[in-house]
Amino acid sequence: MANADTVTPPREPAGKSRAWNFHPALPIGMSPVFDLPWKPKAALAWFAGTWLKITPPVNHLLCAIAAYLLLWPSMERMASFGGDWVAQIFAINFGAVLILAGALHLYLYVFAGQEMRLKFDVRPMQKSPRFTFGNQTWDNMFWTLASGVSIWTAWAVLYFYVAANGWIPTLDSFGASPVWFVALFFIIRFWQSFHFYWIHRLIHIPWLFKNVHHLHHRNVNVGPWSGLAMHPVEHLLYYSGILIHFVLPSHPVHVIFHLFALNLGAVFSHAGFDKVLIRDKEAIKAGSFHHQLHHRYFECNYGSEEMPLDRWFGSFHDGTEAATKRIRARKKLIFARK
Ligand SMILES: [Zn+2]
Ligand SMILES: [Zn+2]
Repeated sequence: MANADTVTPPREPAGKSRAWNFHPALPIGMSPVFDLPWKPKAALAWFAGTWLKITPPVNHLLCAIAAYLLLWPSMERMASFGGDWVAQIFAINFGAVLILAGALHLYLYVFAGQEMRLKFDVRPMQKSPRFTFGNQTWDNMFWTLASGVSIWTAWAVLYFYVAANGWIPTLDSFGASPVWFVALFFIIRFWQSFHFYWIHRLIHIPWLFKNVHHLHHRNVNVGPWSGLAMHPVEHLLYYSGILIHFVLPSHPVHVIFHLFALNLGAVFSHAGFDKVLIRDKEAIKAGSFHHQLHHRYFECNYGSEEMPLDRWFGSFHDGTEAATKRIRARKKLIFARK
């Protein structure tokens, strides 16, 4: 599990390579929080890098607070089932993903706001018969907005109806338990990574891959709309991480944050660009090279950088050519067994 006893080789600086228009410094980093012996300084630096900069999780938190205070239906209303508040949550979700994915897609791909700077894959969005409507962008928008937002809303409605009726433990305010209130955001981030790894491994079982997950993997190069372009069965599994709030007492902000992290987080992580630049300055960290590697090499990086499950189970691709060779050999082995 621990790799602290190994000497860290010099990292290849960020830049261009034969395989990539842009790659971050290699090998790519992973959260050091689970490394043994425990390195508190490195762990703190990892958390600071997530929460003290303009990053996707900070964006999800701010959006969750704003949505809760300004837009979300009250718990009293949600205690009795009604189409009005369900439609309200659907509209918030639809609007959130339309604004974020729409803005990133227009800026990065239509208006080429930063041209090819920090773009991982050299290829543009594709027009190909393998996509619904023969067009990657229209395909991705369709599966995101029709299936994704509907199933996301269904999970949200299920949670809030049950919580508003007092059938599960909830947290009424920050003041009721400040330590738990803060700690739960960290737990959600670990849980999201853990849950994603396992459901993702499940849908890589050949039958499920062919009939379900293949739809997402038609995107070998990805864009903001690709993140939630999934088969409805994958949406159902992907959002099931929300079930944790049926057990752990949560405030509505936690649940909305978790839902935004699953949705807006996928939009960011599939952006295809390492960062969004505005006038050559970093505006926000965007794409995930870790997941971009999954879309190119398939049988690697099923999880995320938050938990080193891929490293523990031998499927970590760190972006180096040596890792590409290792993952290709692993893929051959997997397919030879079938
Ligand atoms: Zn996959
Ligand atoms: Zn993906």
